[in-house]
Amino acid sequence: ETITIQELANRMSERGVDVIKLLMRQGQMHKITDVIDADTAELIATEMGHTVKRVAESDVEEGLFDTPDAEETLQPRPPVVTIMGHVDHGKTSLLDAIRRANVVSGEAGGITQHIGAYQVTSPLGGLVTFIDTPGHAAFTAMRARGAKVTDIVVLVVAADDGVMPQTIEAISHAKAAGVPIIVAINKIDKPDAKPERVRTELLQYEVQVESLGGDTLEVEVSAKQKLNLDKLLEAITLQAEVLDLKADPERAAEGTVIEARLDRGRGPVATVLVQRGTLSVGNIIVAGSQWGRVRALIDDQGQNCVHAGPSFPAEVLGFNGAPEAGDRVAVVESEARAREITEYRDRQKREQAAVRGSGARSSLVDMMSQLKATAGRKEVPLVIKGDVQGSVEAIVAALEKLGTDEVAARVLHAGVGGITESDITLAEASNAVVIGFNVRAHKEAREASERLGIEIRYYNIIYNLVDDIKAAMSGLLAPTL
Ligand code: GDP
Repeated sequence: ETITIQELANRMSERGVDVIKLLMRQGQMHKITDVIDADTAELIATEMGHTVKRVAESDVEEGLFDTPDAEETLQPRPPVVTIMGHVDHGKTSLLDAIRRANVVSGEAGGITQHIGAYQVTSPLGGLVTFIDTPGHAAFTAMRARGAKVTDIVVLVVAADDGVMPQTIEAISHAKAAGVPIIVAINKIDKPDAKPERVRTELLQYEVQVESLGGDTLEVEVSAKQKLNLDKLLEAITLQAEVLDLKADPERAAEGTVIEARLDRGRGPVATVLVQRGTLSVGNIIVAGSQWGRVRALIDDQGQNCVHAGPSFPAEVLGFNGAPEAGDRVAVVESEARAREITEYRDRQKREQAAVRGSGARSSLVDMMSQLKATAGRKEVPLVIKGDVQGSVEAIVAALEKLGTDEVAARVLHAGVGGITESDITLAEASNAVVIGFNVRAHKEAREASERLGIEIRYYNIIYNLVDDIKAAMSGLLAPTL
């Protein structure tokens, strides 16, 4: 637990310089943005005549999320699906085709609203929820904020183009999140479609489809000609049955903000995907540092509804301000509690911004302390980019050899080419360090790494790289006391 000097001063209503002076008298040199540990902070506060009450995150947010449900309260819930794949392989076309095929003609004029997610009926019965923003950027950005929204990834690969860089990225992102993949081989209407080639290419990335003896479901589709969309929905329902997705629909709701904006007429509007429980009009909810009383719920058909149950996406009106995509949503018992939580989070946000400004959040050096807490075999998560396939493979092999029963390197993604923004978001979501071997980071990636505090380490000698990781791993093993 840490705090910046600025934040400590703010909370005591003292001047930052006075805190710095006091620390200096004790022989410690600090800047206002520096982070000090809780014990030092307590000492300072006491010396300055304040009484200290430590408030841990667990106190303020106690019981807000993930409280266990009794087995007998659980009911099946629809799967939540995100479509990923290389640019131009047909993600948007597929989302649109599935949505259109399912609008019952004549019903309320068949109007659909784009609210960030929608539901359709599977030919096997039951519903399927699609997240409307394709691609792994949104997926991983959400995951980085602690939101696990997606149950199944549909990986779209164009049959005339095959496996491309973003296809590989999508596979890594899905695997890092532990989410099963269904392969949709798209554009099979094209004369130069080669679905067989897609299947064999995927083998290289450890995606083995059923027709090649693996357990990854696959469907050949054409978004353009609306071919086999039913088969895709069936595959999703089958995969969902394997996953045995359940939630208690009776409890207070928890969910995630899928998107949010400020509407000129309606005020803050947030699309919330309910994940457990039922959200109802009148509930008091918190999301990030915003809260509100639910004034209205609107579904993807533009209809008002009173309740939204598990896996159900709905626009929520009534927030005081627009929350952010990826914010987790919870129902609380009173406005006072909502205020307490959001004010606390506001403070946290300011602190974190200060911490990020003053150093990397995810670096090899502090990885040790981050991972200490996790039980079992400890892992050093890494994203590796190199200039040629040969050196990337050599690095991965060398790192894998370092692993012991207690600690191991975990390569989340390894690829050829410069470091991209997607590499950074993947690293953020998994607290990983990004390694560049004879490659540089793109401008957007560099900016993202600075903004998010993700460390990028550059190497041009494999030995040095492996040595550093080894050191980080032995740091993990070192006795800490
Ligand atoms: P995204 O970038 O993955 O979202 O791809 P889009 O959905 O924007 O599609 C890229 C291009 O491929 C568009 O010109 C689509 O019309 C075309 N396209 C998408 N699906 C199909 C298909 O099944 N068959 C054919 N022939 N073209 C398709």
